[in-house]
Amino acid sequence: MSPSDANRKRLLVLNSGSSSIKFAVFAIHGQDPLWRGQAEGLGGTRARLLIEDVAAGEREEQSLSSGGHEDALKTLLDWLDRTVGHAALQAVGHRVVHGGTAHADPVRLDQALLEELDDLSGLAPLHQPHNLAAARHLMRLRPDLVQVACFDTAFHRRQPWVAQQFALPREWSRRGVLRYGFHGLSYDFIAGKLRTDFPELAAGRVVVAHLGNGASLCAMRNGESRATSMGFTALDGLPMGQRCGALDPGVVLYLIQQQGLSVDEVQDLLYHRSGLLGISGISHDMRELLASEAHEAGEAVSVFCYRAAREIGSLVAALEGLDGLVFTAGIGENCAPVRAAIVERLGWLGLAIDEEANAAHETAIHATGSLPVLVLPTNEEAVIVRETRQVLEAAGA
Ligand code: ADP
Repeated sequence: MSPSDANRKRLLVLNSGSSSIKFAVFAIHGQDPLWRGQAEGLGGTRARLLIEDVAAGEREEQSLSSGGHEDALKTLLDWLDRTVGHAALQAVGHRVVHGGTAHADPVRLDQALLEELDDLSGLAPLHQPHNLAAARHLMRLRPDLVQVACFDTAFHRRQPWVAQQFALPREWSRRGVLRYGFHGLSYDFIAGKLRTDFPELAAGRVVVAHLGNGASLCAMRNGESRATSMGFTALDGLPMGQRCGALDPGVVLYLIQQQGLSVDEVQDLLYHRSGLLGISGISHDMRELLASEAHEAGEAVSVFCYRAAREIGSLVAALEGLDGLVFTAGIGENCAPVRAAIVERLGWLGLAIDEEANAAHETAIHATGSLPVLVLPTNEEAVIVRETRQVLEAAGA
């Protein structure tokens, strides 16, 4: 391959959900996306593909006739053919939420692996089936295209044995009922950012708070996951936009046995009607709750911050100490009052916030004399691109 051919090679990153497919197109060695966008409204009558030329800031829109996921991917591939040329697309990197016990690293997707990963769909019913469906559609549309799975669980797979266990009979852990943890692509990015920009802290004990619609915490030592707040599924740990977070399992039994809820109703309650939305009755969106004057909105924010601080304490115990705290994702990056309320509860750990720096969303938001408290924007796409390249290079492509 000549250098100019290599310069034309492109990588596609996909994050496929139930009603949308987010994508970004990168140059083979590029750091920033050339285009990004999403197919949205999938499954409905007004599905469309939105594409943004990042450098030019130009946007285009195409309506998707059938509104299905395969149609969206075909339209995206056709657009790529026209824009970068058919031969330029070298690989697709997929965000895949669950890699089970077997996958601590990214891996090239083939039919057999898709079947293996299908078996994990029950563990991540909101994401895994859609992640895999996109890979299947692409395999049909473009059988020769290299596709790589980048797992949200992978970063946590090397946690100590004890951190992965539930106190259930051993038979269940042998059968895969373990604490897996999620948001691993985000934590991997933050670990890398700490290594390059804050090497001393990176070598120490850090709790990273990924606070978005989905929210979790990761306890890192020397850039590796030692414990995390999410468990077997992405329901555990912190309360989220619509998910309940950690819940006494007795509540589930009570709802089914005493209150007569069906299993589907309980699933809907825990995944879609709980968390910030459930407590406030107003919204799952932190911005809306902070803007609301209703006391229920304030109570939902208070529970969120209380539980985050409490769970950070638990991860500090897992790390046997703390050298710094990092906030990331939608709420963590943008929401100063939430950061302040969480840190205020952690004064006993030697953490204090600098109000001005926090309000200005500076990188370092701690007060003089406090342990570092940082705000670092996450970038899961960057990790998917890096991992996809890694798999291509290992294959000698
Ligand atoms: P997802 O888990 O869907 O990727 P995000 O990381 O985008 O979620 O986070 C979404 C959350 O971040 C929402 O609760 C939203 O209100 C909050 N958020 C995003 N931007 C801001 C902002 N500027 N101020 C306050 N909250 C914000």
